[in-house]
Amino acid sequence: MKPSENHSTLAQRVDALLPQTQCQQCGYAGCQPYAEAIASGAALINRCPPGGDEVIADLAALMQCKPLALDTSRGVTKKPSVALIEETWCIGCALCIQACPVDAIIGAAKRMHTVIADECTGCELCIPPCPVDCIQMVAVSRPVDQDSRETRAARAAHAKARYVARGKRLGESQSLDRPAEKVMEPGHRKKHAAVARALERARLKINK
Ligand code: SF4
Ligand code: SF4
Ligand code: SF4
Repeated sequence: MKPSENHSTLAQRVDALLPQTQCQQCGYAGCQPYAEAIASGAALINRCPPGGDEVIADLAALMQCKPLALDTSRGVTKKPSVALIEETWCIGCALCIQACPVDAIIGAAKRMHTVIADECTGCELCIPPCPVDCIQMVAVSRPVDQDSRETRAARAAHAKARYVARGKRLGESQSLDRPAEKVMEPGHRKKHAAVARALERARLKINK
């Protein structure tokens, strides 16, 4: 760590190196809280699976420390992918929209929902809340020149801008200090459980 650097400035520089998917695999509620933890010395630089070795190398250079191997207890670095909704099965509960940190899903209550593939960061946060398991991740291939340091940085900045805009639209701070386990709000859990019970009743009827 650079002892002379102001903590919040350093945290901003760390945040600027992170992929901005807000996936929470690092164990923090998003990229910025993880950046704050790195800047304060509370977290190691190797907890971001989406960033992988490249982000670890960038963080090591910034923090003037040795690169570490990715902490695979947080996950593994995967190939780029986007979410795809099987629209035939979608019941329009909107739980995926509420879970998506970058507003990459469109749809209205009780209508089918669709992912805007160009805006999807592949964070997978929409998958657990879906009560009918109709969202899957599909691989996308990117031309090599789209994975340069500059394009990765531009992609991250774009995702961050959408995340911040979503926070503003919802009239909340996106609770950057919110623990990861509280991401699905109690209201969502209730709705999720009610839909799951209804589906279970429907399945039982079909199987009779
Ligand atoms: S991309 Fe995911 S794992 Fe990496 S810092 Fe951001 S929230 Fe954490
Ligand atoms: S659509 Fe799903 S995988 Fe894509 S950014 Fe939104 S929550 Fe993440
Ligand atoms: S969570 Fe699943 S069922 Fe609900 S709107 Fe999204 S894709 Fe459709």
